[in-house]
Amino acid sequence: MSRPDSQALLAPLAPWFDTNRRGLPWRAEDLDAPHPDPYTVLVSEAMLQQTQVATVIPYFERWMRRFPDAHALSEAEGDDIHKAWEGLGYYRRARLLRSAAQAVHERGWPGDLEGLLALPGLGPYTAAAVGSIAFQWPVAALDGNAFRVLARLLRIEGDPKLHAPGLRAWLSPALAAHGPSRITQAVMELGATICSPQPRCGSCPLEQGCQAKAAGLQSEIPPPAKRTAPKESEFWLLAIEHRGEFLVHPPGGKGLLAGLWRWPIQPLTEGAAEGTLPFGMEARAFPGWTQVYTHRRERVSPLHLQPMERPAPAGDQVWIPAARLQQLPMGKRDARLRELLKGPGERPLSLPPGLL
Ligand code: SF4
Repeated sequence: MSRPDSQALLAPLAPWFDTNRRGLPWRAEDLDAPHPDPYTVLVSEAMLQQTQVATVIPYFERWMRRFPDAHALSEAEGDDIHKAWEGLGYYRRARLLRSAAQAVHERGWPGDLEGLLALPGLGPYTAAAVGSIAFQWPVAALDGNAFRVLARLLRIEGDPKLHAPGLRAWLSPALAAHGPSRITQAVMELGATICSPQPRCGSCPLEQGCQAKAAGLQSEIPPPAKRTAPKESEFWLLAIEHRGEFLVHPPGGKGLLAGLWRWPIQPLTEGAAEGTLPFGMEARAFPGWTQVYTHRRERVSPLHLQPMERPAPAGDQVWIPAARLQQLPMGKRDARLRELLKGPGERPLSLPPGLL
């Protein structure tokens, strides 16, 4: 089916964005010139993957004070970048961002989309976002918001991601005509603020040309993504302290929590020891919670244990002084127990069997 001309269809978007755009700390004032600091675009795009704008803003501002340019980031230690990223999740993004900064610092910014795609961590979306927003190249960056807007505008039923190559080619003339940075950000902004999953079509600058709106299908396009059931697990999360030191796992190189310090865990079994504490043991329990990841749900039972005898570290565990605890980069789950340690707990009703 032939599609309407993107340049004409998206023309109302340019003045709408110039008037309504949100003031975000990484946004350039002048949308017709290349961005004065492409590094800020790279940092913001890395942070915005999987994370809401409002959450990203304070992280971005702290990050830019700490690592103001590619050179500063390229020399940063692993613990420092993970600490600065602490709480944002998907920590691999921070490591890849540093690798990309190292490549840019050594060889300069690439001159085309293929060069950006060759940087660590830049997939088709991020490379095109940096290309269009930082360098004004007419390359289409399609994130979830953009796919939703375009699918509705053009009445694409089914998964719009299957149409990605055609949509990129369709969008390109509009980028060239109205400004790559302006239109790239405008499409995503429209998806974030107006053409959201429950769209506010009455406030939309594209209402007149929108095919889904004309057909009354805007609530059905795009269809909801199928989700697989998350894996469930439950365990004790253990802060084991002995004479001012805590037992922790140092950062591993792989997995969801790579680069982060972790507390030991022990599966929550039905055979948990109940009743009196072992001789000399101090123990506190804190309220449990469910830690939710994209594909995983963990039922966490946090404990603070202070045995009389110093237990031998298991596996890669190490003892670290309590004074260092706050400086260690930890994921949300482990940082939450670190915070709980500052408050009161309760006498535990049960303990991991044979722990100590
Ligand atoms: S008219 Fe409605 S469905 Fe169409 S682009 Fe605008 S907000 Fe989205």
